[in-house]
Amino acid sequence: MFFLAVPLAPARSADRLVPLDLDQIELGGLIGRRIQITVDNNLLVLDVDKDFLLPFQKHDARTSYIGLGKLIDSLARFSTYTADQRVSARKKHVVDAIIKTQEPDGYIGLFPPDKRMWQLWDVHEMSYLVYGLTSDYQLSGNKPSLDAARRLADYIIARWSAEPEKKPGGDTLTVHMAVTGLERAMLALNRQTGDRRYLDFCLKHRMLPDWNLPIVLGRWGRIEGHAYAYFAHCLAQLELNRMEPDEKLLGPTRRAMSFLTRQDGLVITGACGDHECWHDTQQGTINLGETCATAYLIRVLDALLRLEGDSRHGDVMERAIYNTLFAAQSPDGRRIRYYTPFDGPRAYFKGDTYCCPNNFRRIIADLPAMVVYRSGGGVAVNLYTPSTAKLQLNDGVSLTLRQETDYPNSGRVVIHVGPSKPVEFPLSLRIPSWCPKATIAVNGERIGKPIPGGSFFPINRQWTPGSRVQLDMPMAWRLVKGRKAQAGRVAVMRGPLVFCLNPAKNDKLAGVDLRLLTVDPESLEGPIPSDAVRPDGLACRIRAWGPGRWYPMAKTDLELVLTEFADPDGQAAYFHVPNPNAELFVEDELVRP
Ligand SMILES: [Zn+2]
Repeated sequence: MFFLAVPLAPARSADRLVPLDLDQIELGGLIGRRIQITVDNNLLVLDVDKDFLLPFQKHDARTSYIGLGKLIDSLARFSTYTADQRVSARKKHVVDAIIKTQEPDGYIGLFPPDKRMWQLWDVHEMSYLVYGLTSDYQLSGNKPSLDAARRLADYIIARWSAEPEKKPGGDTLTVHMAVTGLERAMLALNRQTGDRRYLDFCLKHRMLPDWNLPIVLGRWGRIEGHAYAYFAHCLAQLELNRMEPDEKLLGPTRRAMSFLTRQDGLVITGACGDHECWHDTQQGTINLGETCATAYLIRVLDALLRLEGDSRHGDVMERAIYNTLFAAQSPDGRRIRYYTPFDGPRAYFKGDTYCCPNNFRRIIADLPAMVVYRSGGGVAVNLYTPSTAKLQLNDGVSLTLRQETDYPNSGRVVIHVGPSKPVEFPLSLRIPSWCPKATIAVNGERIGKPIPGGSFFPINRQWTPGSRVQLDMPMAWRLVKGRKAQAGRVAVMRGPLVFCLNPAKNDKLAGVDLRLLTVDPESLEGPIPSDAVRPDGLACRIRAWGPGRWYPMAKTDLELVLTEFADPDGQAAYFHVPNPNAELFVEDELVRP
């Protein structure tokens, strides 16, 4: 294990990795396709006037939460990334309309005057409006958005300061959950305006540096264990740490990561939390993995990757992206889930507003910034997907970095490194923990010994226009041992993908309790093509004994086809096996000692 030892990036932060701007990279492949269907089949077909804007114009308090600020944030990001006129027109329409509703005292929200500020979710809604409008200004320079964000933030600060004893939501929930998003909104506004008052609000009124919650298991009391709210505060602390470094600010984030990777808080699909709250049972039913928690887990991993340069954050990130995140959306892009269980049927969320659909759109809009990072005067590749990145290096050298790959169908990646003139810099590649032996060749010449997964591998050399790096990460099938509620079962994985059973694809499974199937691990075959989730998708076959069969003597009576976890009708990801301690089973590589 080693960390990237790189000089500090100039003037931006003390981070080891620095993301590209959204308009510096274009993605294809599986991730690019998810972005496209989210824009075309979701973002652009929403009824923004009726579902999103009307409740803000009526103030009749019939709705307690919309998530309009989150929508504006995603519109601003997609608009920058896609440069699509339809997206920017839609963003302008929403931003202009919501600014028109701003009242003389700065309020923008859903409630009549007597309910403002302290009614549950009013501060949460306002916070994301501040954040989304600030994002719009940051990405497009639209001054009215910044002015509106400031007036709204000033309204919150004035009301909070005038009645310090009051609690948003009336103390039915922890205050930190009731105001999720508030601190990051104020920090973003502070960064854009340089106005110290927004930072001071976080320090003095919200006591952000002192926020230090334990991991509370389960959903009870004032919902202390809310995963999304916890991650949102970790992110605010990590951002504050970037401005005013203090080891104390990293404590809660490290606690959460340790819980996820050492204490069974993370499940095989990269999800966490049951019924929105921390759990460590490894159960995967009904309310597993709130989409907001998935989105914020990915965002915290990005922040940690930037801070520490530890590739293992990228390993968890890709597990979450390819499995629980993509499974939280219908294959055509239109529908989004609130929860994404791996055990039992999955449901779509009924509408387009509220937390999860909006946070889903936002995180999809952020993915382009998590593929390639600047690092130590060079670049680091975190996610493998067809992409073209264009950036400036030091000394006026421009660089085009183009990835060609069918990842995650295979682990073969070709990276075309195109500097405008010969130049020396480090190109670092994340070697995933699932890959025991990767090989790298530059311009056809193999570099060193096979590289074990679990670190960034830096290639330091003089790059000339037309340089070509070939990374080969052999993708063997893995049968991953279940833990706790999944003990005695295995999950079927290949690269970052988890494979699942869609019972509708096999008529012999009608009415069968899938947890009573026993698979024959030696019979696994694949990959085979499958369009259950996407064109060029994958599946595998495995033979199984039905409930009550006398394995291993009796012949297997079932052939199961397992599809990518994003298969919308997938209902099982762990399978009982005759010998749970068979040597070919491996531990989940994301679990740390
Ligand atoms: Zn949610």
